[in-house]
Amino acid sequence: MCHTLSVNVPVDHLDHRIRGGWTSSGAADAELPAHASRWLSARTGLTPRRTPVAPDSGLAVAESELPAQVRAVLGSIVGPEHVLVERADRLGRAGGLSYLDLLRRRGSGELPVPDAVVLPADPAQVQRVVEVCAEHGVGIVPFGGGTSVVGGVAALRGDKSSVVVLDLCRLDELVSVDPVSRLAVFQAGVVAPEAERLLAAHGLTLGHFPQSYERATLGGFAATRSSGQASAGYGRFEDMVEGVRLATPRGEWSVGVAPASAAGPDLRQLAVGSEGAFGVITEVTVRVRPAPVWQRYEGFVVDGFAGGAEVVRALAQASALGTVTRLSDPQETEVGLTLAGSWKMAALRGYLKARGIAEPCLLVIGWEGQTKHEMLLRRRSSLRFLGKAVRLGTAAGEVWRHGRFSGPRQRDALMDVGMCVETLETATYWSRLGELRTAVRDALVASLTTGERRPIVACHISHSYETGASLYFTTLVPRDLEDPVGQWRDAKAAASEAIVGLGTITHHHATGVDHAAYLPGEIGPLGVDVLRAVRRELDPDGVLNPGKLV
Ligand SMILES: Cc1cc2nc3c(=O)[nH]c(=O)nc-3n(C[C@H](O)[C@H](O)[C@H](O)COP(=O)(O)OP(=O)(O)OC[C@H]3O[C@@H](n4cnc5c(N)ncnc54)[C@H](O)[C@@H]3O)c2cc1C
Repeated sequence: MCHTLSVNVPVDHLDHRIRGGWTSSGAADAELPAHASRWLSARTGLTPRRTPVAPDSGLAVAESELPAQVRAVLGSIVGPEHVLVERADRLGRAGGLSYLDLLRRRGSGELPVPDAVVLPADPAQVQRVVEVCAEHGVGIVPFGGGTSVVGGVAALRGDKSSVVVLDLCRLDELVSVDPVSRLAVFQAGVVAPEAERLLAAHGLTLGHFPQSYERATLGGFAATRSSGQASAGYGRFEDMVEGVRLATPRGEWSVGVAPASAAGPDLRQLAVGSEGAFGVITEVTVRVRPAPVWQRYEGFVVDGFAGGAEVVRALAQASALGTVTRLSDPQETEVGLTLAGSWKMAALRGYLKARGIAEPCLLVIGWEGQTKHEMLLRRRSSLRFLGKAVRLGTAAGEVWRHGRFSGPRQRDALMDVGMCVETLETATYWSRLGELRTAVRDALVASLTTGERRPIVACHISHSYETGASLYFTTLVPRDLEDPVGQWRDAKAAASEAIVGLGTITHHHATGVDHAAYLPGEIGPLGVDVLRAVRRELDPDGVLNPGKLV
């Protein structure tokens, strides 16, 4: 049966501000269960402690340097009440939600704070704001849900003396729906659950469900080439984008007039993934699909990551993937089942051993259909490739489905007891996948292991293609209380070096600040020049998202 996705949608424009964690209060809304805390202590050497979020009042915030004259002009465009210079409003859009961002909000490391937050109401106001900022040399950071984990919304000034965050939260409308062509036009600031709610009224879905679903926006998805948990069924976000409306310092630019075109290179793909550096996306035209009526999620266990990856490759190459197809490695299987607390790991291990499984790897597959028959046909086509996998049934699939957006809350709780917890991701071809996983794992383990601290590095495949797949790593280790920023910086650098030459520096988190140094290695110096030329053409004064992409 179909289950609708119900999550809290941030409705108050001001209160989608970011604090020290995923929830809008900044505090973990769930405590780590005692059994999880005990297990982490034994596994990693953690001495649990309370390290709660620093109150905003403890953070250093310089006075706004936005010239009064510019503030007045911006106020005349969007209304003076929509140019925010209060400390709390500026802090609430200072950076995103990476582990380092959250550490900065807990008092470790410097947090760049914008000089003002501007809240335009529609594409025309965005265009005017961009032009005024360009005219006065004020940096602009486009801000959707602020869920960037790569420094994409860091309020960097570059060579500008002031920078504003352009928060798109008031661009929150569904502009039009064309059910015949299966197209919908959304304003860029619509958050994903709201987009699904608006489409559900037409019996449609976008089908884009990243783990950041609760807070992220459609403009943000387009700007970062996001990929959702159901990418095997619905594609990556760039596959859904049919058209984009972009506000640039040189004027407004709209691309996308037909489902396919041979009129030169596809310029939509220049806007998609541009990370706010080529313009501000004000509207996105997306492909939509009929909402599924039937869904079924099941869990399986396969033996070892290499064997599991072979199963997923076979599924991908035979077009037999489920809408969701997700393979955890042995470490992620252990962490997931232990933290979820719903499985007795030891008992399960015994049961699986009796069935010849030495290294359990959880494989979750979800199928959808308009009819039960259609869904079951898809399921049958996948099952042909599952070989000796042990079936855990729908209960295990449902555990994953219920917890699919709980990761960020778990991270808050883990940070509160003194853990370093962060994710990173990459992708490569099937023939190199095992080598890449080993290289990244080894680099993280070597960087983070000390006498008393033992990291857990867990990995999964959640996006698969005919030619390869992504790898998503979660790292857990007791936080170095002396130098928490340096601890993760070094580990991330080691992992990134391991990735270079074997895969891409990012499969869906984007470039931002954190990956910018690795981009030239991936696209070559000529590629960097091409991006710089596009940026110069659209933004001659370099005001758009200083310090990001290139
Ligand atoms: C816990 C967690 C889980 C995540 N899981 C996933 C996942 O499963 N899949 C995935 O793909 N990503 C994931 N992310 C990363 C992040 O959610 C995505 O990058 C998302 O696409 C960002 O959307 P946003 O609206 O929050 O954009 P922001 O974070 O506000 O912005 C991201 C970048 O896009 C630019 N930008 C935003 N809006 C616009 C616009 N309208 N015009 C121009 N530029 C703009 C910003 O300047 C910035 O460079 C996760 C992040 C977190 C914190």
